[in-house]
Amino acid sequence: MSQQMSQQPKKSPKTIYNFSAGPAMLPPTVMQAVRDEWLDWQNLGVSVVEVSHRSPEYAALMTQAEADLRVLLSIPDTYHVLWLGGAARMQFASIPLNFLAHGQQAGYWVTGTWSELALAEAQHLKKAYCIANAQDSGCAQIPPQSEWRFEDNTAYVYYTSNETVHGVRFAEVPKPTKNIPLIADMSSDILSEPFNINDFGLVFAGSQKNIAPPGLTIVIVHQDLLNTALDGPIPTMLDYRIQAAHQSLYATPPTFSCYMAAKMFSWIKAEGGVGVLQQRNHAKAQCLYDLIDASSLYHCPVEKPYRSWMNVRFNLRKPELEPLFLEQAARAGLRALKGHKQVGGVRASLYNAMPMEGVEALTNFMCDFARLQS
Ligand code: PMP
Repeated sequence: MSQQMSQQPKKSPKTIYNFSAGPAMLPPTVMQAVRDEWLDWQNLGVSVVEVSHRSPEYAALMTQAEADLRVLLSIPDTYHVLWLGGAARMQFASIPLNFLAHGQQAGYWVTGTWSELALAEAQHLKKAYCIANAQDSGCAQIPPQSEWRFEDNTAYVYYTSNETVHGVRFAEVPKPTKNIPLIADMSSDILSEPFNINDFGLVFAGSQKNIAPPGLTIVIVHQDLLNTALDGPIPTMLDYRIQAAHQSLYATPPTFSCYMAAKMFSWIKAEGGVGVLQQRNHAKAQCLYDLIDASSLYHCPVEKPYRSWMNVRFNLRKPELEPLFLEQAARAGLRALKGHKQVGGVRASLYNAMPMEGVEALTNFMCDFARLQS
């Protein structure tokens, strides 16, 4: 039976472009390299997922991965890089638990779903307030600096650089007036454009968009901020100082996601680095936004200066056509375009791995669809 199956002529695979917001597409060359060494990694005769996280091979892999990440993002030695298991939102708890002492509070810019949840978790555990809230505008923009409000005894301020659900981004790093540590959730835009790590006390990102499959969260934290971490009570797994002291090996790390991250960093280096990806990402997003703005059928609810380059969100002016749009798009090989259930509509996620050809396939489909409906 299996022989018969293998003798059947192979169909040429249809090109599929995956616009999923996360877990998201990874570059085909990376996936092929993983497939090729899946059963025998580094001539060990076993798969990478069968190797101890304390083996010399895994240690060498992670040394290289961290060195590559430091080069890609120009991270100096004054920052620790932590490779933590668990979902990105675990940091929503870890951050206040590590850095908010009694009598202190933290300020949060609320610009969409993820910063709203981060603030709620900080308030659940400690004391935190909203610096500015974009929800009044339906998260169509980042509130202007004139509306920012900082309170006394603020231990850190926190923002989400790219709101994945609402498709809104901070075009510039929001710097607090006083010398207060800045913390950023970069889960959906890390490595998509350069940023100056020296502006930050801590940056974190879940892996499932621009880095690897889910399961890994990378935390980059300045040693001075780490030194201010509380002595407790912090659950041991969430204690940044313990994770740093154990080189992220306090518990078993998500080895497969770390291995994939290492592969992605090599891929980014080979592509020319984060600056090259930034140019590509800008061109991809611009191509799609230009079509939306020129169309009478499509509409982007986010104001131009704040539009995400990673998650392009749009609606059809005839909402009753959206199910048909999504169905026909899927049939054309353009998958996972349905907007997040909180906001509906359409969302095309254009992370680093999405080629320009994918965006062109989408814009061609959108033009055809609009023509047929007019
Ligand atoms: N922050 C941002 C910006 C996100 O997009 C997401 C998930 N999409 C999260 C946090 C939460 O990630 P996780 O599901 O890994 O907790």
